Amino acid sequence: MRIGIGYDLHRLAAGRKLILGGMEIPFDKGLAGHSDGDAVAHAICDALLGAAGLGDIGQHFPNDDPRWKDASSLRFLEHTRDLVDKLGYEIGYIDGVVMAEQPRLGRYFGAMRQTLARALAIPAERINLKAKTGEGIGEIGRGEAMAVQAVALLEARKQRSRKARKQRTSRKPAQPRR
Ligand code: MG
Repeated sequence: MRIGIGYDLHRLAAGRKLILGGMEIPFDKGLAGHSDGDAVAHAICDALLGAAGLGDIGQHFPNDDPRWKDASSLRFLEHTRDLVDKLGYEIGYIDGVVMAEQPRLGRYFGAMRQTLARALAIPAERINLKAKTGEGIGEIGRGEAMAVQAVALLEARKQRSRKARKQRTSRKPAQPRR
């Protein structure tokens, strides 16, 4: 069992779509960034990469790589899911805190969890999201930025299902050689 932590912060800018958790959210500003600025997806990516011992998002998706310019960050999650899978881990659980003064995000979390879960190929029940404001102070509170913290739990994938193990152990012993 392995755990990882992720953190991301993006500035809010006029004339950008607000993309969080793979969803477009109606708001008059969006998160600035080389990709779509989806800080929820980025923090989850970093938490997964951390738990897998695979470094960080900047190593895997460099922001000067034209492949990722304006890319949907859901593609980062899909790629990270594949890396985790190749190492023999499955995603056990993800929890996140989304720090934003406005808009109120709670109403979007259900759909966001579904969208993230699809990209990660896990049930939405394995993802939890929480919202926090900045209480009117700091860069979050002044509405200049949004930040996200996430933790991820990875579990070693079971080598065989219980049924397969049972079949294996109940197999008749080999006939003794004559
Ligand atoms: Mg980011």
